[in-house]
Amino acid sequence: MALVLHNAAVLTVDRENRVLAGRDIRIEDGAIAAIGPAGTLARAGDETLDCTRALVMPGFVNVHTHAATALFRGLSDDLPRAFWANAYRVPGQERFTPEDYARSLRGACAEYLLNGVTCIADRLAGMETWAPIIEESGLRAVVGETITDARGSEGWEASERVLARYGTDPSRRVFAGLAPHALDSCSDALLARCAARARDLGGRVFIHVAQNELEVERVRERGHAGALACLRAAGLTGPDVVAAHAIYLSDAEMEGWIEDGTAIAHCPASNLKIEARTLPIHRFVGRVPVGLGTDWTATNNSNDMIVEARLAALVGKMLADDPTVLPVGQMIRMLTIEGARVLGIDHLVGSVEVGKRADLVVIDLDQPEMMPAHDLASNVLYAASVRSIRDVLVDGRVLVRGRALAAGPGTASARE
Ligand SMILES: [Zn+2]
Repeated sequence: MALVLHNAAVLTVDRENRVLAGRDIRIEDGAIAAIGPAGTLARAGDETLDCTRALVMPGFVNVHTHAATALFRGLSDDLPRAFWANAYRVPGQERFTPEDYARSLRGACAEYLLNGVTCIADRLAGMETWAPIIEESGLRAVVGETITDARGSEGWEASERVLARYGTDPSRRVFAGLAPHALDSCSDALLARCAARARDLGGRVFIHVAQNELEVERVRERGHAGALACLRAAGLTGPDVVAAHAIYLSDAEMEGWIEDGTAIAHCPASNLKIEARTLPIHRFVGRVPVGLGTDWTATNNSNDMIVEARLAALVGKMLADDPTVLPVGQMIRMLTIEGARVLGIDHLVGSVEVGKRADLVVIDLDQPEMMPAHDLASNVLYAASVRSIRDVLVDGRVLVRGRALAAGPGTASARE
C-alpha cells in the first residue's frame, strides 16, 4: 500500500530550489516513488494525507545533538566561560539515574519529531543504551560513542560495539560513526587512531573542535600551532570529518580549513550562549559542507531548528557586516540537504525528489505566520514557528500527525 500526500505545495530543495504548487507525492516502501499533478497519483487502496493548504518540505537535519541530556535544560544559564572548563559538567547532574536519562532521551526524540527534525547526529557515552531508544522513536540518526583518553579502553570498546551493531552504512536508518570527544580530551595518538579506524570502516568522525579557548591553549601546549594543525596532524580533515563549533580559529586557519574541506556542525545558539561568539559561516558556506546543530539543552536550550536557522542567518549577516549574505535559499538548504551532506546522506534524504527516502515535514499554510504566501521558503526561515508543523514523516512513516505524536512503537514512553 502506498501513501499519497495530496495537493501539496512543495519546497523541493532540489538543485534549482524549485517550489511546486498543487502536487501529489506518492510514497512506496518509504521512498518517494512519484511527484505529479494533484489527483493523478492515488490508486484504490492507497492511504491519502490531504495536504491542501499545506507545504511539504524535506525534514530538518540536526547535525549535532546529545539527546539523552535533555533533562539538563534550565540548569546552567548565564554562566562565565570558565564554568565550562570542568569537562562541561552541569550542576547537580550526578543526581540523575540511567532511567532519568532514558526518559529524557525519549522526550527529546519526541520533541525533535514535533519540531520537524527527521534526522539527528547524536553522540554521548552510553550509546549502546541510547541508540536503541533513538531507533525506536522512528528518527533517522547517526550515533557515536564518546571516546576520550580519560575513559581509556572502556570508551573505545563501547564504540567498537556500537559500530559493530549499527555499522557505518548510511542506508540503515540508524548507523554509527566514530566520536572522539574533543581536541583536548583526546591525545594526538588517540585522535589519529580514531581517524584510521573511521577510514578502515568507511565511516565518519564526529568531534568537538575549538569550542573554547582553553581547548586551543592545550592543543598549543602539545606543540600544534592551533586547532587546524592538530586536526591535520591526526589526519582528521576532509568531508568525512564533522567538526562541531570551530569558533576559535584564526583567519589563516579558516582559509586552511576551507582548503581541507572539513565539514562543520554549526551550533550558533549554543556557541552564543556559553561563549558569546560564533563562527562567521558566510566564509564557509558553499565551500565546505555546513549543517546546523542544536547541541544539548544545557547550552541552547532549545531543540528548535527553525530558530537555529534563523539565528544562523541573522548573526551570520552581522558577522559578515553584510545583509546580503546567507540568503533564504541557502539557509533552507543548510537546514535540510546540506545537513544531509554533512552526514553523508544527501543521496538518501534532504530534498523532495523521486528516489529519495520520504523524510518530510508538512507545514500548515493556514497558520498566520505562513501568510501571505509570496515566498514560502522565506516564510519558513523568517516567520514560521514549530506550531506551523503539522505532520512529520521519516522513511515514509507518519510519526507526527496533526501536531501530535502518531501511534507507534515508542510513542507511549515518549509521553512519560
Ligand atoms: Zn556537543
